[in-house]
Amino acid sequence: MGKKIVIYGMGQHGVQIANVIIERQKELDIDVLGLCDKKNQNNIGRNTLFPHELERIDYDFIVITSKKWYTDIKNDLSNKYNIKPEKMMLYSSLEHLFDGSQFYCNICGSATNIFLSAGMKDGIFKAKNITGGGYRSKCVCPICGSSDRSRWLEYVLETETNVMEGNNTILHFAPEVEIEKKIKEKNANYYTADIVEGRADTIEDITCISYEDNTFDYIICNHVMEHIENEAKAFHELKRCIKNSGSIIFSVPICWDEPTYEDKTIILPAERLKNYGQEDHVRLYGYDLEQKMINYGFKVRKVAVNQQKYEELEKLSLIFNDTIWILGKET
Ligand SMILES: [Zn+2]
Repeated sequence: MGKKIVIYGMGQHGVQIANVIIERQKELDIDVLGLCDKKNQNNIGRNTLFPHELERIDYDFIVITSKKWYTDIKNDLSNKYNIKPEKMMLYSSLEHLFDGSQFYCNICGSATNIFLSAGMKDGIFKAKNITGGGYRSKCVCPICGSSDRSRWLEYVLETETNVMEGNNTILHFAPEVEIEKKIKEKNANYYTADIVEGRADTIEDITCISYEDNTFDYIICNHVMEHIENEAKAFHELKRCIKNSGSIIFSVPICWDEPTYEDKTIILPAERLKNYGQEDHVRLYGYDLEQKMINYGFKVRKVAVNQQKYEELEKLSLIFNDTIWILGKET
């Protein structure tokens, strides 16, 4: 007789994970008794239970679908509803749940048949086909939570730089958490930075970086510049802080059909969302980005998914025209 479980957490990823568990019940030797969430969301197509209804169900385990909120949910369920901590587990403890060979995650090394969907289905990211924004059906690794963008960054760091070989001095803005761990293991002089407290090791304003000239072998700066009003100053600071032999690993969400769009009078969050795709973006980059960076005095090398051998990348499920630029000092 299989273990009787209730699945908890029906957010965007939770629903997808629940569907996989339900589909594989027999193989996994479990019996799904029900779905539970604080909100009675029905986007899975069946009723969900509220947490207070759990006491009338005879289950062996509650399987929680959110890695990010796992500890919070566990504490909440045990404090408010007297559920014993040992009766709760994270979905990834269900062995063989995601086993398969269709996809491969180069960050956690997992082979799986399932990558989870993510991103918004409407708005300007969809209308203008923005690379690196909007909805992707096979985006997130269910084991480590990395996105297609992070897997592409990992690929570029492995194949185009010596970041993963170690012993570099590195500054990483708005760090991708899964990649942060890997870089830290190899490089003792590695610093993460963000303008918002709590998101990285240090608080750092990209338009006024606190480090001296010529400090870093690498500065990694992905999906940051679209948030920065004073782009010229930020590029100047990035350039100032890399060594003469150093590189900036750079990307932004981009529209390949139009030039960069920026209107300084657009300041309301709702207007920014409408025009740039996100409430805290200040422009929408376009095909002229590379020329802009050349004009700022960089040596520019473009590395694009669609320049690579397709067979090597198919399993990583990347965005077809995702691009990372490697910027150096013009000496
Ligand atoms: Zn992974």
